[in-house]
Amino acid sequence: MRGVDREAGDTAQLHAALDRSPLQEPGACGHTRAKDQNDGNRRPAGSGAHAAIVETGNHVVGCDSKATMTRTGTTLIQPCESATVELNGVAYRLPDAPVAVVCVDGGDPEYLAAARAAGLIPAITRFMQDGFSATAHSVIPSFTGPNNLSIVTGAPPAVHGISGNFYLDRQSGRAVEMTGPELLRSRTIFDVMAKAGVRTVVITAKDKLRRQLGRGLDLSAGNVCFSSQHAGRCTAAEHGIDGALDFVGQPLPDVYSADLSLFVLDAGIRFLETDDPPRLLYLTLTDYVQHTFAPDHPRALDFYRALDRRLARMERLGATVAVTADHGMRDKCAADGSYRIVYLQDLLDERFGAGAARVICPITDAFVAHHGSLGSFVRVYCFAAPVRDAIGFMRSIDGIELVLDREQAAARFALPFDVEGDAVAISTASHCIGMRRGDHDLTGLHGARLRTHGGLAEQEVPFIISRPLKAEYRTRAAAQPLRNYHIFDFALNGSNLS
Ligand SMILES: [Zn+2]
Repeated sequence: MRGVDREAGDTAQLHAALDRSPLQEPGACGHTRAKDQNDGNRRPAGSGAHAAIVETGNHVVGCDSKATMTRTGTTLIQPCESATVELNGVAYRLPDAPVAVVCVDGGDPEYLAAARAAGLIPAITRFMQDGFSATAHSVIPSFTGPNNLSIVTGAPPAVHGISGNFYLDRQSGRAVEMTGPELLRSRTIFDVMAKAGVRTVVITAKDKLRRQLGRGLDLSAGNVCFSSQHAGRCTAAEHGIDGALDFVGQPLPDVYSADLSLFVLDAGIRFLETDDPPRLLYLTLTDYVQHTFAPDHPRALDFYRALDRRLARMERLGATVAVTADHGMRDKCAADGSYRIVYLQDLLDERFGAGAARVICPITDAFVAHHGSLGSFVRVYCFAAPVRDAIGFMRSIDGIELVLDREQAAARFALPFDVEGDAVAISTASHCIGMRRGDHDLTGLHGARLRTHGGLAEQEVPFIISRPLKAEYRTRAAAQPLRNYHIFDFALNGSNLS
């Protein structure tokens, strides 16, 4: 049995994050140091790492630093040991050597376990033994968008506003895409770091994520943000790089392939190989392999061996390497291979009448061949159906693990209340949830097993750093639930970088 967090601490964490209005006191070398106004247990992350709390992330404070004011009003400094920027209550140290954070999309810990047992990932195994390794939790819903945005803002969806690919606009009754940068309610660590003079490279597999992650990033100053999906269309103005395919020295990868992810990693390596490598890299992959193959399948093992070789190369090039995932992955089939799908819209229509309630599958995107828009988490909007009755009915359905009302879901999972449904339904580890039977095209699976994510059963993710942690961060990791969105804090502030 895998451990499933049934009483997630997201709410307490959110309150801690939102309550952070640090008082300031002089630090050891004359800087302000963060001090929590409530109690010693709720201080801002990184405060022990000589955190200098600053206003909005546009200003940087560092001891013995030479500050210069640029035309954009950003204060730039020569990075030193204690220079930091602040974002969502966390003070991040400016890296003086490359730090590469890799988000293995759908990288359930079981894939690492299978590859490790087969002896195929010596570098990652060494990171786990000599650096730091733990199992962390993703945010719920355990989908790609909400988790990537949490990772790059260091905060839950209630702060950054992205809780899926779609929500229902109650006024118009239309499903609205949530993947545009305009809906993002927080700055990203890339925006903040780059404006502090840290050259930053962000590479995604899919382009929709590139647009959100690149929001606010100044691409005229040597920073780069592009996707392997559209690597053939890069321009200096929009992506910070011309001719990305030539730079990487590879053809454009297929959108449904392991190569789409490997291209991201190879591009990151090319940047690390340059004379003046970027100091901050975020390489976020695609979960094609994990949706398609079980952890012990030869194709999955091949992918993890290829991943390991690339991470080893990054380390040899001097980068601190941190690895996490946006979510895990579960098989949703019976022993005979038949799909275990709860067609919830059909069941609600049957019980309450057509149009009485509406199911939105927030996993839906343009790339549905490998999951047919089926995930483990859906939002339900009630019209003629009374919310209490609908919740009671859904709780009785075989294959549904948890149903919460709007307030409960937003509080427990730290989700933005304004775009939340009247209820959320989460399936068991062995089931997924759809709308009507006819709404889901499963022909793209070609009869293969259905593997997907979104619920509590898919929230466990690896949390690995290539270098040992400082004592303070080891203590924190042991004392508090780790989230994938702590990875930049731990990689930048928690590891011994030199
Ligand atoms: Zn994903």
